[in-house]
Amino acid sequence: MPDDIDELQRKVEEAAAKIETPQDLQRFKEEFLSRKRGIIPGLFKKIPTLPPQERSSFGKRINELRELAESLFKKAEERLKGNLWRERLRKAIPDPTLPGYFKPLGSVHPISEVSHTIEEIFLRMGYDIEDGPEVEMEYFNFDALNIPPHHPARQEQDTFFVGGGYLLRTHTSPVQIRAMRKRKPPIRIIVPGRVYRRDEADPTHTPMFYQIEGLVVDRGISFAHLKATLETFLKALFGEETGVRFRPSYFPFTEPSAEVDISCPVCGGKDPNCSVCGGAGWIEILGAGMVHPEVLRAGGIDPEEYSGFAFGLGVDRISMLKRGLTDIRNHYWNRMDFLEQMK
Ligand SMILES: [Zn+2]
Repeated sequence: MPDDIDELQRKVEEAAAKIETPQDLQRFKEEFLSRKRGIIPGLFKKIPTLPPQERSSFGKRINELRELAESLFKKAEERLKGNLWRERLRKAIPDPTLPGYFKPLGSVHPISEVSHTIEEIFLRMGYDIEDGPEVEMEYFNFDALNIPPHHPARQEQDTFFVGGGYLLRTHTSPVQIRAMRKRKPPIRIIVPGRVYRRDEADPTHTPMFYQIEGLVVDRGISFAHLKATLETFLKALFGEETGVRFRPSYFPFTEPSAEVDISCPVCGGKDPNCSVCGGAGWIEILGAGMVHPEVLRAGGIDPEEYSGFAFGLGVDRISMLKRGLTDIRNHYWNRMDFLEQMK
């Protein structure tokens, strides 16, 4: 019997040394220490079957074995707990050599950036910024601006009609009427905003784009005021050396009307093969004129007492010119590689 006990002790020690997981630990307990099926408690049951003179020493021996097994069990348990904590710590402590998390920093969209630049120039000249609805009444978009139903300008500004006398505004000009009805002269406003046309998208057209409208109404406003204002604005935007020229034109809502050109900001008129001005040296940049008396009347203002000027420009076109872009659609593709370059 003592040989068997020695053999069993070796088994206990070997099994304890092999404990790696909580499952191993549990198995060890069941095999050697479980009250019901464990080998060591089973040995105690043999004591009454032994000759009386052997019982005491046998009992002592298996008691020692049980204490050994229990202490090995406790040690293995502690060891596993330690491993667990080390594992948890390893996961919890950040590794300072790892690369950090990068959150890309956003930037102002090129269209917004150009809009803000233009707004700031006019704010410095004492203008207010006015706003109006993009779903506009047909009346404000056309009729009130001296564009009656038969007028060919309606064809040129074909748009999205939403029914009930409403449409997606084709220009920011309806805000002229809204502002005149809301404010009393003197009026000095600019109106930045989205406008819509039923155009196929191509390098120079998109069905939605941005305009900035300007309107000044007061006593004694003349074409000279318009000219000086736009020259000041365009030189502030494109540089002091920029040439500005007015060409007679026609718009239903202004009389007289003008198209305004600037000297080519790329070649200055010196390159006959310039891709921006085509060698002409001038680029059309905006439309302007003295507010038509009918438009003043539609705004509730007496054209005998007041006069005014108005102008409108495309923000996309100015963004393209300032950035050397050849495709207006770049503004709306939301391509990160493009937007990154525009920062
Ligand atoms: Zn040029």
